[in-house]
Amino acid sequence: MGVNYSISKEVREVIYADNAATTRLDIESFEAMKPFLLDDYSNPSQPYTFSRKAKKALVEARKTIADCIGADPEEIFFTSCGTESDNWAIKNGSLNGDILTSQIEHHAILNSCRKMESEGKKVGYIPVNSLGIVDLEWLEKNISSSTALISVMFANNEIGTIQPVKEIANIVHKHGCIFHTDAVQAVGHIDINVKEMGIDMLSASAHKFNGPKGIGFLYVKKGLSISSFIDGGSQENGLRAGTENVASIVGMATALRNNIDNISENTEKIEKMSQKLIDGLIANKLDFIRNGATERAPGNISLSFNNFSGEMILHRLDLMGICVSTGSACDGNSNAVSHVLEAIKLDKKYAEGTIRISLGKDNSEEDIEKIISGISKIVHR
Ligand code: PLP
Repeated sequence: MGVNYSISKEVREVIYADNAATTRLDIESFEAMKPFLLDDYSNPSQPYTFSRKAKKALVEARKTIADCIGADPEEIFFTSCGTESDNWAIKNGSLNGDILTSQIEHHAILNSCRKMESEGKKVGYIPVNSLGIVDLEWLEKNISSSTALISVMFANNEIGTIQPVKEIANIVHKHGCIFHTDAVQAVGHIDINVKEMGIDMLSASAHKFNGPKGIGFLYVKKGLSISSFIDGGSQENGLRAGTENVASIVGMATALRNNIDNISENTEKIEKMSQKLIDGLIANKLDFIRNGATERAPGNISLSFNNFSGEMILHRLDLMGICVSTGSACDGNSNAVSHVLEAIKLDKKYAEGTIRISLGKDNSEEDIEKIISGISKIVHR
């Protein structure tokens, strides 16, 4: 917006449709970061005048982020990424008892839970239906007096399904437990008000909403007692020590504000392109299933092609300069179907042919036409 900026030809020619993996940094965010990398580089903890700008920027960024999710500034804790926020939330919750989480969480939650299990905690895994929605009856029945934390993601990274967050929060609170949501795929793309939705802890990551990589935050509701995650200095109320990454924090706040201010038009544009893509593939008579519930993270399109290898589709699209992701390979092991596709019980002959296209605000109608034509050529062959 008003900033002159040209992308290199090489990058312009790539059709980037993997926005659930990461997004392009907003130019406004980049410009906002620059002073804190060059001129105003001082440590915000120092008492001299030179540190005032950095200190003020931190206060403002915290306020902006809080405002974007309906929280108070003192409820926002800066972290290095979504994974760290998730790990911290699980560690906090497990201090007071057992955990329940869903079968389709990101590995940032699942592997953190596995670690808790290895340390003697009990973890239960909430099943999901074929659309990827958690079984609320199972949840109700399985919360016991020893349960402390329920962690259910806001929107799934593979299939996009949005969970009934408010209903989950109501059940959790009825039993006196704490509700954490991994909202890494949702923040900046879906309107979230933590107070109205009954969220006690929420994880977010800047690079998923056009901010820089290596910065995120954890929202923790006032009054919840939490343990420190990194011990050292007094940063983040003494709970997450380490000199603040001022430039990235400012970049994160700028990107989030930008996305939230334009959320309706971005969503409308992305939904329109998503529909065009699906309509185009149907018109070309391809045999595929679109995974996930109708309430999905905007732009998340998980497609499973009958009797195909998702891996192969990905590599052939790559040769055409189109970036997507597979939805079937788990941690690079192309023979394994991901835990998410297994949990929704997707027929194996479709599951192995899964790709995830994730559109963002920078995609164009022309990109969609090229993706439709690319996939159709590969699948018809
Ligand atoms: N949670 C979800 C749902 C994600 O999609 C991701 C990243 O893909 C993460 C957590 C981890 O975030 P980060 O890459 O910032 O560590």
